[in-house]
Amino acid sequence: MQAARARFEVTLREAERGLLVDEAAQALCDYDAILPTLGDGFAAGAFAQAGGDIRCTVLANFGVGYNHIDVSAALAAGVQVSNTPGAVTDATADIAMTLILSTCRRAGEGERMVRAGQWHGWAPTQMLGMHVTGKTVGIVGMGRIGQAIARRCHFGFEMPVIYYNRSVKEVAFPARQVESLTELAAQADIVVVAVPGGSETHNLLDADVFAAMKPSSIFVNIARGDVVDEPALIAALQAGQIAGAGLDVYAQEPAVPDALKAIENVVLLPHLGTAALEVREAMGQMALDNLIAWDEGRALPQAV
Ligand code: NAP
Repeated sequence: MQAARARFEVTLREAERGLLVDEAAQALCDYDAILPTLGDGFAAGAFAQAGGDIRCTVLANFGVGYNHIDVSAALAAGVQVSNTPGAVTDATADIAMTLILSTCRRAGEGERMVRAGQWHGWAPTQMLGMHVTGKTVGIVGMGRIGQAIARRCHFGFEMPVIYYNRSVKEVAFPARQVESLTELAAQADIVVVAVPGGSETHNLLDADVFAAMKPSSIFVNIARGDVVDEPALIAALQAGQIAGAGLDVYAQEPAVPDALKAIENVVLLPHLGTAALEVREAMGQMALDNLIAWDEGRALPQAV
């Protein structure tokens, strides 16, 4: 904020919920530049509603994921869009590891047991989970975050890495690309989702994928909620088709289905992927650098 105020006349929106589509339309008419984030409704309808009154010519998104912005509608309306790739990669990969470890080793369940005064001491067969070291991880979406997760799994946990990606991808460490999601699901002990959200990936992880997973395997999503068919995931967990899930993101955030909360072997985080101060500062600086480039008439360094 200090850096932004030093350069621009800034209005800060303090509300915690995202802009509704009509509020986004109004913002497009009121400001030259907007620094939006997750949940702000820059859908096609916002650009249509603002129509010829659009004053804004740049949306410098705070975050790498921009599925809340209809980029084609923005560009057609003369509004450039940028995001913050890279700044979020390690922190989000760390949250994926948090979910892998805490789901496999039943940390959520154990923590609830201790807090409830239900722990009566160490026992040889108590709360046995899945040993993580050496298990096969399957990454869906081998981009920046997918590779950062894979690197942690390979170098830190001696895990064989397989991955499914839209295009053919070479990576700089041992990892094998597979042809289909069901092939990945059938071979992995832990499936981790790291693809962008949006129409191309909507419900990419569906009932067929869960049916192909081993009953002993766990599912982790740090990408976007709309990438997963959430009712199909809940059904697979309830039926014991998969052994557990670790989730940072949900289809209708901040709503988390009661059916998920009722399942013990599920670890639920409140979209914590980038939630560390230095990471959020780096994201803010990157978004601001794009606004400065726009202001100086240069190409946006992180245009999408
Ligand atoms: P990225 O570098 O663009 O990687 C995305 C990868 O997904 C690319 O390798 C891409 O393949 C692949 N992909 C795209 N569509 C696909 C499809 N239909 N099928 C299979 N693979 C597909 O993005 P990133 O920086 O890793 O970020 C990934 C996503 O993580 C973001 O978009 C965001 O939604 C999410 N995220 C979440 C948090 C959080 O707080 N939980 C934080 C940061 C990011 P190509 O190689 O063919 O392009």
